[in-house]
Amino acid sequence: MHCFDVVVTNSPSYVGAEEIFDFYRARAVEYGLYDHAKFSHTVIGAEWNESTGKWTVKVQDTVSGAVFEDSAEVVINCAGVLK
Ligand SMILES: Cc1cc2nc3c(=O)[nH]c(=O)nc-3n(C[C@H](O)[C@H](O)[C@H](O)COP(=O)(O)OP(=O)(O)OC[C@H]3O[C@@H](n4cnc5c(N)ncnc54)[C@H](O)[C@@H]3O)c2cc1C
Repeated sequence: MHCFDVVVTNSPSYVGAEEIFDFYRARAVEYGLYDHAKFSHTVIGAEWNESTGKWTVKVQDTVSGAVFEDSAEVVINCAGVLK
């Protein structure tokens, strides 16, 4: 668990997956992340736009298949260590 947050755990020595998941879900609710998160969407491209000073991010809704563009000042790649 992250050091910025104190967690009282029922686990005797180490926490299991369910408790870790609960911890992160609670932090996401606490910081309002679910209001900004899009699930079932895949980033299929990101291009720096010199004139706007922003990233143009191409996203696909994996349920409907629809592709659309979004823009962002910062893009953080968290696609996993194996990618
Ligand atoms: C078999 C296995 C067992 C493991 N066991 C343990 C363990 O017991 N304990 C432990 O601490 N660690 C374990 N790990 C390591 C741990 O799972 C990883 O270190 C951790 O999940 C990395 O987190 P992450 O958020 O960086 O990436 P991930 O958990 O891989 O998350 C990346 C996310 O990005 C999404 N994504 C990828 N590409 C795109 C895209 N283009 N657009 C949108 N979304 C995208 C993926 O769908 C995924 O949801 C294990 C890993 C493996 C493979």
